[in-house]
Amino acid sequence: MRDAMTDDNIDVLILGAGIAGLTAARALSERGVRVTVVEARDRVGGRLLSRVAAGGDVVELGAEFVHGRAQELWALLAECEAQTTEREGTMLREDGNGGLVEDDPQDEERFAPLEDLEDFTGEDVSFADWLATSDVPEEDRPALLGYVEGFNAADAHTIGVRSLGVQQKAEEATEGDRSWHVHGGYAQIAEHLAGRVKEHGGNVLLNAEVLAVRWSTSNVEVETNQGILRAKRCIITLPLGVLQRVNSKAGLKITPEPAAIVQARRLAMGHAVRFTMVFRERWWEQLRALPAETLRAMSFLFTAQHLPPVWWTMHPEAEAAPTLTGWIGGPRAKALEGRSAGELGREACATLAQVFSVDESLVRASLLETHSHDWSSDPFARGAYSYVPAGAMDAPAAMTQPEDETLFFAGEHTDTTGHWGTVHAALRSGLRAAQQVLGEN
Ligand SMILES: Cc1cc2nc3c(=O)[nH]c(=O)nc-3n(C[C@H](O)[C@H](O)[C@H](O)COP(=O)(O)OP(=O)(O)OC[C@H]3O[C@@H](n4cnc5c(N)ncnc54)[C@H](O)[C@@H]3O)c2cc1C
Repeated sequence: MRDAMTDDNIDVLILGAGIAGLTAARALSERGVRVTVVEARDRVGGRLLSRVAAGGDVVELGAEFVHGRAQELWALLAECEAQTTEREGTMLREDGNGGLVEDDPQDEERFAPLEDLEDFTGEDVSFADWLATSDVPEEDRPALLGYVEGFNAADAHTIGVRSLGVQQKAEEATEGDRSWHVHGGYAQIAEHLAGRVKEHGGNVLLNAEVLAVRWSTSNVEVETNQGILRAKRCIITLPLGVLQRVNSKAGLKITPEPAAIVQARRLAMGHAVRFTMVFRERWWEQLRALPAETLRAMSFLFTAQHLPPVWWTMHPEAEAAPTLTGWIGGPRAKALEGRSAGELGREACATLAQVFSVDESLVRASLLETHSHDWSSDPFARGAYSYVPAGAMDAPAAMTQPEDETLFFAGEHTDTTGHWGTVHAALRSGLRAAQQVLGEN
């Protein structure tokens, strides 16, 4: 730490060792720029958090899926020699009469209105307002609202239809409807990047919380709980939820306040609760309610009448631990926020028993442990991931404008390609910020 504190050996300070910060640090250090990454946690990866569970299997507490075929992310996965498995299998849903049915591919038609948003050119209003005045049949609306809120961790009364349209288009271009699981944990890509930074002479300082940033042209002073660091330039990759608190009573201070902070306040941080239950066996496969093959191949389960409303298994990874992951995003996540992993697991045993019409004791007896992380109360995240409210479509791009060639902003919330809230958005933003520092775009 002492070395890094001297004034003349850092060209660029990078705040945050998530994928955005580490990608920028790697790109710059490979070009001979002397970088120091400043991270509050005792680990790298930020919202990538992989944990070893009972039996040695790795469960994710943050990002889990590689969404689509974003070229930059797949190049990194290849470089890490990471093994991936595409998620596929049967999807089950509650039928409204207390039973479970296999999803009918025809049901996907209900989501066609979202695809139509791709060409939306009207006034940017919230999805809920748009839906209320649309010709979407009344009976199809709850599923659409649930999907938009769950997937985007967003409030349907806030998220803008323009951003949903841009996102839809972006996903189509990258096969965003396909998803993959990374064997051995998603966080390995962060560790790989940090290794590269160090190999090229960069520093990654852990347990170093940024408390204040004071800056003027080509002069940045970063105050941390471990001392003061100085450099000519600084890339700020702190999560949106943290930036939105900047210069509030409890938030970190940045003086003078950059224009990007004003833009950050126009965006929204979404909330989600996810937990993974590790079982002794896949008890659901023994049930008689549905054909054995349907239950064995279950990948997703939608339980609209219960909380959480979305679940998934590790299918088709037959050798993976028997797990069920519960997910709830958007305003309804509040109902489960603040619960410990143990509480979430205990309550979920009762829920799953109802959903599968089995005795709760059967589910409980099989449960080994439950894993979860409360991202909403995490002071270094303050939520799950960002989304764009109605009327704020210009904010992410505005955040990418360098301040006086001295402060640069990156992070998933600064994405301008319609992939907000993803790992590949964070990665791209880090590459973009590095190019800006190098004067290459
Ligand atoms: C539950 C959950 C599920 C998700 N699922 C998926 C998924 O399946 N697929 C997908 O693509 N994406 C998913 N995401 C989103 C994805 O994880 C993020 O978009 C991405 O990891 C963000 O990277 P980042 O570098 O922008 O931010 P972060 O990873 O948050 O990095 C920012 C860093 O800044 C640090 N920091 C914060 N405050 C300070 C401070 N004061 N001082 C110093 N350091 C500080 C943080 O500790 C963190 O390490 C999910 C996210 C969550 C929370």
